[in-house]
Amino acid sequence: MSLEDELTCSICLSTFDCPVTIPCGHNFCQDCLLASWEDSYSCPQCRTVFDTKPELKKNTGLCAYLLLLEHICINTTMSGWSEVWSLLPPPFSAACWSGG
Ligand SMILES: [Zn+2]
Ligand SMILES: [Zn+2]
Repeated sequence: MSLEDELTCSICLSTFDCPVTIPCGHNFCQDCLLASWEDSYSCPQCRTVFDTKPELKKNTGLCAYLLLLEHICINTTMSGWSEVWSLLPPPFSAACWSGG
């Protein structure tokens, strides 16, 4: 799985917007997840069913990471995410991902 895949919401298939983590460990955009929970509470990715509405944990590590990437995009002439990924130093991703 590439880094770009890991930062992609499996519901809207674009980069996370306000990522949240649910108890099974999967991440989604907050809005995507809440929209999918109109009828029942289950993970759109692994299909784990929750009896009650799980607490949404904001994935702060992931949020910070995305904000930084956004910053890089805005302040450079790079147009695509893939260009940004290629410039990131390797330890960066590991450090950010432990924050969730
Ligand atoms: Zn989404
Ligand atoms: Zn899941």
